[in-house]
Amino acid sequence: MTEAHSQTAVGQIIADAIQQGITRALELNNNSQQEDKNFYTEPLKYNGDRLASIVIPAPNTPVIPASESIMSVVFPRNSASMSKTLVCDFFIVDPHTHIFRQRSDRETRFPTLLRKFRVAIANGYIQPTSNFEHLLGTSIDTTGTIDLRPLLDSQMSTYILAFDKPKQLAVMLRDSLFRPKPTTTFSVDKWKTFWSLPIFPSILTVWYRAIHHKLPNKSLLHNIVPQSFPSATCIHCPQTEDTLHHFLYDCPTKKSIWLQCLSTFFPDVPIVPGRILSILLLLDYGHFQNKKSTVATSLSFISIIGCILLGIWRSHWKLVFDDRPFTTTRVLPLCSSIVWQLHFQSLVD
Ligand SMILES: [Zn+2]
Repeated sequence: MTEAHSQTAVGQIIADAIQQGITRALELNNNSQQEDKNFYTEPLKYNGDRLASIVIPAPNTPVIPASESIMSVVFPRNSASMSKTLVCDFFIVDPHTHIFRQRSDRETRFPTLLRKFRVAIANGYIQPTSNFEHLLGTSIDTTGTIDLRPLLDSQMSTYILAFDKPKQLAVMLRDSLFRPKPTTTFSVDKWKTFWSLPIFPSILTVWYRAIHHKLPNKSLLHNIVPQSFPSATCIHCPQTEDTLHHFLYDCPTKKSIWLQCLSTFFPDVPIVPGRILSILLLLDYGHFQNKKSTVATSLSFISIIGCILLGIWRSHWKLVFDDRPFTTTRVLPLCSSIVWQLHFQSLVD
């Protein structure tokens, strides 16, 4: 195999691995709920020589000062064994490809230290490239035919263990290709108002999860574990997908309970479509913020919304786990009892 040929082959291996990582990152992003367990436990498939590392930019990582012992820099407070480790203990010019690469565990005197070193590199604690030539000169005899392009050409600075740690590669690629989006853009004041609502903590918990779209509606469950949830349809309406909105309010069975319960405590307040969902998911209280019930007089509209949410939530799980019917005659009294419980507690406080 000629040198040029081998370089091309190795470049192809790296390109393939990155392509696989990008493909996987796309999949992760498109369906962030779904995790392919095999992906995290099995190494990426590649052919050709084992390469321990590829390189990506990490401009903010610290530079190792020129030193014969990189270990003493990377692990300054570590044992004497670290300080004896040389560059050539962890890196090698591959005898077949003439490419400078990490040693495999079997090729080093210090496999445990090498693993620690890889972790430090993978986590971006060190930036090995800028001093590599010096380090090479001090610890490796020949530099004549070494191909350093995988390490140096593109000013790439941090190794990641693309082949040993495909999960890290995919997550890193995903986060660089698709910047993590915040689930909410609520202001601090909005959150403060939410957390200071005078309602039971159990209500806040369910509500908080709803805001972050983390309630286990069937559509979400079907996406995460399709084996256990082959259908995404609502438990009450077999023709309709159980989205978050449907799960919370839009389901006709639940909407009827919401409206009946609200009319009990706010007989004079008309509810326009979308209003309850915007209170639940956007904390858009509007003029309801200070509206008190004419029935449970200590409670505000928002507090009673929370009570109904909890009543419907609990009834849902009674249906799922205990087969208790989810009917107006069962759910309404439960919602009301939570409202009255909160009302009397507010009076005592
Ligand atoms: Zn439904």
